[in-house]
Amino acid sequence: GVIGQGVSVDSLPLRENLRGKSAYGAPQLTVPVQLNTNENPHPPTQALVDDVAESVRHAATQLHRYPDRDAVELRTALAEYLTGQTGFDVDASNVWAANGSNEILQQLLQAFGGPGRSSLGFVPSYSMHPIIASGTQTEWIDAKRRADFSLDIDFAVSSIAERDPDVVFVTSPNNPTGHSIPTEDLRRILDAARGIVILDEAYAEFSAQPSAIGLIAEYPTKLVVSRTMSKAFAFAGGRLGYLVAAPAVVEAMLLVRLPYHLSVVTQAAALAALRHASETLGSVERLSAERDRVMARLTELGFDVIPSDANFVLFGRFTSAAATWKRYLEQGVLIRDVGIDGYLRTTIGLDSENDRFLEVSASLVQSEL
Ligand code: PMP
Repeated sequence: GVIGQGVSVDSLPLRENLRGKSAYGAPQLTVPVQLNTNENPHPPTQALVDDVAESVRHAATQLHRYPDRDAVELRTALAEYLTGQTGFDVDASNVWAANGSNEILQQLLQAFGGPGRSSLGFVPSYSMHPIIASGTQTEWIDAKRRADFSLDIDFAVSSIAERDPDVVFVTSPNNPTGHSIPTEDLRRILDAARGIVILDEAYAEFSAQPSAIGLIAEYPTKLVVSRTMSKAFAFAGGRLGYLVAAPAVVEAMLLVRLPYHLSVVTQAAALAALRHASETLGSVERLSAERDRVMARLTELGFDVIPSDANFVLFGRFTSAAATWKRYLEQGVLIRDVGIDGYLRTTIGLDSENDRFLEVSASLVQSEL
């Protein structure tokens, strides 16, 4: 038998706040149409693949040495990309990078949350926010969105005033509902918050809204914008997330990061991917147009479609979301049950994948709603 088999998690001396919790669990299944984790469906170009391979080959000659602990070259390239993409003058000292924006969020809670501190988020939202809170022993407070999943800003502001959290999470566009927060609403949250406001902009490149990066100069002790190369950048497998904030926030990250957290290979590959940013991001407009087509067709078929500013769409209302999710899977289409009663989320894929998804949707609309 397996060494140590038969011992349950419950019998381990686990920290109390982790007992009974479930792990993050998007199913990783290989099926013809995979529309479940909000990836960019377009594979990297040959030029990008070659540049990554050549860069990693070169980096491999230095594998006996630790990487640049502060990833200065990579942060400089990210700052240049951000300055071009957002129009705001971002410096390398405003940027911090880690292994995916999940690690960025964890480092932020290690520094600004933790035992005796609290974080508040507007649910339904990204499921990892409360999981990272429990991993860092930060109390988690749910504030609900409206029944149509839009953010009731008056309620949001009064929740912050009442609960006085150390960290507020705002996801814009929000996963899994697709809404973006208007700048004037974000200002009200920033004015109401005493602590850090993390604006999770994982899907920012898909949005028509301006980035919150423009507000950092006004709220330097509060606002942190978190971003990722996993979505629009088509670099989910490369694991590279980053934050934009005042340089002091980056200094705070140095207190909690593990030394050499970004490998030589990761830094080289991410730099190569950034050199090809414009060709990669060319897919964003196509995906946005496809999103609009999928939303229009689902509406026409009779589904309840939540308007999306990102590369995914939440739709329903199903009698049983769990049962319908299985029907899609039986037809070779993997979408996501995000745990919202009556709704499922589909990622926008290649045109042909969206066609197949819409075909299956048309066949299910009668029986599942
Ligand atoms: N934030 C949001 C809102 C997300 O949806 C995701 C990916 N599911 C992430 C952060 C984390 O992505 P990554 O760690 O790949 O950067």
